[in-house]
Amino acid sequence: MKQEVPKPISGGLILSYRCSCECLHCMYACSPRWEADWISENDLEMVLSKLSGRIAASPYGPNNVSLNSGLHFTGGEPFLNFELLLNAVIITEEYAIPSTFVETNCFWCTSDRDTREKLSTLKSKGLKGILVSVNPFYLEWVPFERTKRAVQIGYELFGNNMFVYQLDYFRRFVSMGIEGRVSFYRYLEQNNGDFLHDVEFFFMGRAAYDLGERLAKVVQHYEPQSLFGRQCVGGFLRPWHNHFDNYCNYVPGYCGGISFGDCRDLDNLLTEGLDLDDYPVLAYLVSEDIKGLFEFAQDLGYMESGKGYLSKCHLCVDIRRFLVTAGEFRELRPKEFYQQLK
Ligand code: SF4
Ligand code: SF4
Repeated sequence: MKQEVPKPISGGLILSYRCSCECLHCMYACSPRWEADWISENDLEMVLSKLSGRIAASPYGPNNVSLNSGLHFTGGEPFLNFELLLNAVIITEEYAIPSTFVETNCFWCTSDRDTREKLSTLKSKGLKGILVSVNPFYLEWVPFERTKRAVQIGYELFGNNMFVYQLDYFRRFVSMGIEGRVSFYRYLEQNNGDFLHDVEFFFMGRAAYDLGERLAKVVQHYEPQSLFGRQCVGGFLRPWHNHFDNYCNYVPGYCGGISFGDCRDLDNLLTEGLDLDDYPVLAYLVSEDIKGLFEFAQDLGYMESGKGYLSKCHLCVDIRRFLVTAGEFRELRPKEFYQQLK
């Protein structure tokens, strides 16, 4: 059976999975322990050339940004390799890809001068905006002063093209008078165990493991059977906000560890589609048949977790984590993702 691959109209370019942080909620299981494996110059040029002409501008225009439009540079932490980030911005500008922004955890914003200099340089080469990441998981790693600095200088330079994800947390941290770093446990204590109020959150990637363990007593776990009928929350076959990684995997939505194929070969991938007979895991996922995937894995030796699962995505990633050890599945890439999940 043939399956069309979504024609990407927006997304993120993962320059590397290496990060300065190891956040408990990270969808892509990034950390300082990943090999950097920065995307090569050739692959960068090739992937951007394939995205050129496909990426749609923000509804506010090509010089403006919005979360699910345009192209963003991400990771891992893109500022760990500023030279590469700068080069990516320059090439993207040459290809006239609209509504570009960089996503950062702000670890590098240690002084006003350095922050202003780096952001000004990126802007002068064509970058349109910046997304500052804020939630209690980053706060464990990045002193809040650095986040505030990025917000302030980012706003000075980019105006409304500086945006904070998630703004509710930023406001909350300011009103709490937070300084420095705060451990997640301490944050929970200070907020009566509440960290999800009024915010978007996905239990997928590392969140399903490290965070799930820590919150075992306060968040609900489900038996697989009660998750079978649920829809894929991350939107698996959508054209917007997909990812393209440093190994040239075309990653659907936020589904770390899954690949539609090599995005250097995007034209062919979009024209030919995928023969699902060659991609058994994708075959189950595109039909939203998590029950089928579960039984397929069980036949290969997968053991159901006695603790239950936090979400359908938790069940999905746990099955896939088993499958990468049980056979050769081309759609389960990069393999390192599964090794980085504890
Ligand atoms: S969530 Fe962001 S900052 Fe945290 S480990 Fe993942 S990539 Fe790094
Ligand atoms: S269930 Fe799997 S395929 Fe669906 S959104 Fe979650 S991680 Fe992605």
